[in-house]
Amino acid sequence: MSEHNPSNFIRQIIDKDLAAGKHGGRVHTRFPPEPNGYLHIGHAKSICLNFGVARDYAGGKCNLRFDDTNPHKENLEFVQSIQADVRWLGFDWEDRLFYASDYFEQLYAFAIELIQAGKAYVCDLNAEQTREYRGTLKEPGRDSPYRNRSVEENLELFQRMRAGEFPDGARVLRARIDMASPNMNMRDPTLYRIRHGVIHHQTGEEWCIYPMYDYTHPISDALEGITHSLCTLEFEDHRPLYDWVLDNISVPCHPQQIEFSRLNLEYTVVSKRKLTQLVDEGFVEGWDDPRMPTIAGLRRRGYTPASIRTFAERIGVTKADNLVEMSLLENCIREDLDRSAPRRMAVLHPLKVVIENYPEGQNEPLSAANHPKDETMGSRELSFGRELYIDREDFREEAPRKYKRLVTGGEVRLRNAYVIRADDLIKDERGEIVELRCSYDPDTLGKNPEGRKVRGVIHWVPAERAIAAEVRLYDRLFAHPTPDAVKDERPFTDQINPDSLRTLTHCLLEPALADARPGERFQFEREGYFVVDPDSTPERPLFNRTVTLRDTWAKISGQGGG
Ligand code: ATP
Ligand code: MG
Repeated sequence: MSEHNPSNFIRQIIDKDLAAGKHGGRVHTRFPPEPNGYLHIGHAKSICLNFGVARDYAGGKCNLRFDDTNPHKENLEFVQSIQADVRWLGFDWEDRLFYASDYFEQLYAFAIELIQAGKAYVCDLNAEQTREYRGTLKEPGRDSPYRNRSVEENLELFQRMRAGEFPDGARVLRARIDMASPNMNMRDPTLYRIRHGVIHHQTGEEWCIYPMYDYTHPISDALEGITHSLCTLEFEDHRPLYDWVLDNISVPCHPQQIEFSRLNLEYTVVSKRKLTQLVDEGFVEGWDDPRMPTIAGLRRRGYTPASIRTFAERIGVTKADNLVEMSLLENCIREDLDRSAPRRMAVLHPLKVVIENYPEGQNEPLSAANHPKDETMGSRELSFGRELYIDREDFREEAPRKYKRLVTGGEVRLRNAYVIRADDLIKDERGEIVELRCSYDPDTLGKNPEGRKVRGVIHWVPAERAIAAEVRLYDRLFAHPTPDAVKDERPFTDQINPDSLRTLTHCLLEPALADARPGERFQFEREGYFVVDPDSTPERPLFNRTVTLRDTWAKISGQGGG
């Protein structure tokens, strides 16, 4: 990959560790998603950080590890989508794809070690009692009445938990740390719980006890020889427990946990729970709905992997809580597509134009550059004829002098073609304009007319070979910049932008778009950047708007009137 990655506080820590010869001079990170949903743009930040660090240090490695300790919320669809999305972003875990469930047997053995050392015990308090005993931030907790069970009794009960002798919730295994700790996470946290009747996507029905994340994570890191375990800030208070677990078992490696701030993005939500709700309750069409901030949604929306990596680089990595503007993400894809997307013409709201002084039955091939700044992208053929379509919004019966499009009696240039004048119009019985009668100036192909100034340029498609298509205009999913932080009683879904999707079913595209394949991206001149939807077929072409052009008018005049 060509991007350079600016330094950040984590890279500075790694530099120092390397200079001090820590971790034997190795750099080994991991990305540890829980397969309980699709990856979102926040995960992309973590992926770019973890895999980016591994890529940029000599011999660096990054593992993909599924944190699959919560089987009732996880499934194979999520496992597969996560792998596809990480690969699509341009990263490679080589042969290091792991599951925390790979370590269930070892995790169990380490739990036995803790019990034998008097550092873990089986507790019979129910969930509510456990909460009561835990105390509060102001008050210390109280010891569980089961805290002083003998090692023998704990071993026997834990083995019987594994054997399936107790129902869900009857008992848990807890670490024996300190019920008076000011850090609630250290007040004898649960290490194992009983879960019957779930079929784990990797281990099936082999286990009915499942280790907790805070216990599983440090051990998984250590078993994989991770050097720097990068996670988000909410785990800062868990770091003492991360270290306690590794300090109290016989594992030869002690990775260093370093926390950074989560990405929050305006006009969307990046909580898997909320994204799941949007999908399950039908607010969007699925995890890959182009309005979703998921990687799959962004892909379907037309984002490129490079644009997302650039975004991750620009937002940086710090410990400060932040809310990133949506326009930062949008600018990354605009810049990428401005460089790389071929230009095409598409009329979203067609209005028929008949050029009365153009010979009937004549079709004139015209050549148009695929990119105004990049000749290597070549050109395509347009076919000019007597009948064509322009956008309804590019014509007004009457308009102020400032109006730079077509007006009755006025002239405008058709992009890549001639200057035309609107002479007359035809309305239907409801008074709606259905057709313009125009004339063209044959002497204006590739040059300005003599003695008059034509200020506007509009796009068009030929009537004869135009391709009918559906175009979906996507906008931000939420109308509020922080939908999940609105302080009232209403659910965050009330903040959904009612105009987040407008479907235009009668659009007309220039003939060169006939061969467009799913995933191909284009700039529709003056309209924005668009991508062919995966469901698109030659019989039923579907295009999704990725992003609008920043400033339509500045852009078109910058391209000249050719
Ligand atoms: P959620 O709270 O939405 O369920 P999560 O953090 O539980 O997300 P995981 O699958 O556990 O989701 O996340 C995998 C990794 O991605 C973790 O290391 C997590 O810290 C990181 N991550 C998740 N969300 C963000 C975010 N918004 N910004 C940066 N990193 C994130
Ligand atoms: Mg998590």
